[in-house]
Amino acid sequence: MRFSTKCIHAGIDPDPSTGSIMTPVHLTSTYVQQELGVNKGFEYSRVSNPTRSVLEANVAALEGGREGLAFASGMAAISAVFMLLKPGDHILLSKNIYGGVYRLGKLVLEDFGLEFEFIDTTDLALVRRAIRPNTRMLYVETPTNPTMEITDLAGIAKIGRAHRVTTVVDNTFASPHLQSPLQFGIDISVHSATKYLNGHSDMIGGIIVLNDLQLIERLRFLQKSVGAIMGPFDAWLCLRGIKTLPVRMERHCENAIAIARFLQRHPGVVHVNYPGLPTHPQHTLARRQMRGYGGMISFDLGSLRAAKRLLKRVRLCALAESLGGVETLISHPATMTHASVPAEERRRIGVTDGLVRISVGIEDVQDIIEDLRQAFESGRR
Ligand SMILES: *Cc1c(COP(=O)(O)O)cnc(C)c1O
Repeated sequence: MRFSTKCIHAGIDPDPSTGSIMTPVHLTSTYVQQELGVNKGFEYSRVSNPTRSVLEANVAALEGGREGLAFASGMAAISAVFMLLKPGDHILLSKNIYGGVYRLGKLVLEDFGLEFEFIDTTDLALVRRAIRPNTRMLYVETPTNPTMEITDLAGIAKIGRAHRVTTVVDNTFASPHLQSPLQFGIDISVHSATKYLNGHSDMIGGIIVLNDLQLIERLRFLQKSVGAIMGPFDAWLCLRGIKTLPVRMERHCENAIAIARFLQRHPGVVHVNYPGLPTHPQHTLARRQMRGYGGMISFDLGSLRAAKRLLKRVRLCALAESLGGVETLISHPATMTHASVPAEERRRIGVTDGLVRISVGIEDVQDIIEDLRQAFESGRR
């Protein structure tokens, strides 16, 4: 099966008891057992649930991995990944990363004896030098949030193998349609399913996909032990969203490049970050490891005042956190998604006060451009 077909069919069979084409939502906590020790593969829904299992198999196929594990949120999935570690372990992460991962590492898990170090993972020589004897994990986001930097996946996988360090990629921004980390030798791909996988801004969820049997066994154990599982209805919403992932992603990409070009030409914009622009410093690398450049753009307006003004005047673009839905969302990383990152650290990673992030939706692109144009223009009066 090719990718678009997998989105609709992989892991999904009509329900054997009714013929229902759509996967049923199995709203049950428990399952009848035929006799002691004999059941139909399900015992208790924290451990496994048929609707969730279908989603897990489906996303595993999309990522080219052996198994998928679905969690209550992207952060729950990422927490499970960090729980593979032990006190004293050192983790290297992309400096420019989802704000919630920074918060989880620095403000929660460092209390449990893990050490989080944020470095520029676009520089492979720097990554190699930063590896210590107690480094156990290399955690990369590419493209990064919100500055859209690209890290070399094959390069990271190679460093991981050479130093016996588990490599993890947050593939949320690209989605499996545009990037397949496991194919580059990365050990674990993790997603906030809340974003492009679901695509309709109507649930919260997270998914991990991987190949290594030992890691799968440990993560399954963590999933049932901690219990931060995805509920069956959310799994169903995510499954429904995934059926249109390829057509949505194509439109996100098409709209985003048009908007990136519009922003680049606009006199009010100091700088545009979009890996699809030939002016992006890692455009060639992005072209090599991605099948498209996605729907996320950030741009610098030079000051907090200019950013505030634009965000106040947009009408179609909704001022909101999150991304990856069919509707265009616009946000201000410094005060929204990255508010928990200290100001000095924000400056170091390029999250300036004038930076605006846009999650380009699949509306008619002319309507989005017109909305941005009127917001810029009314701002000048
Ligand atoms: C949203 C997001 C997360 C966290 O996912 P939730 O579903 O909100 O818990 C992690 N990484 C990235 C890149 C995200 O965009």
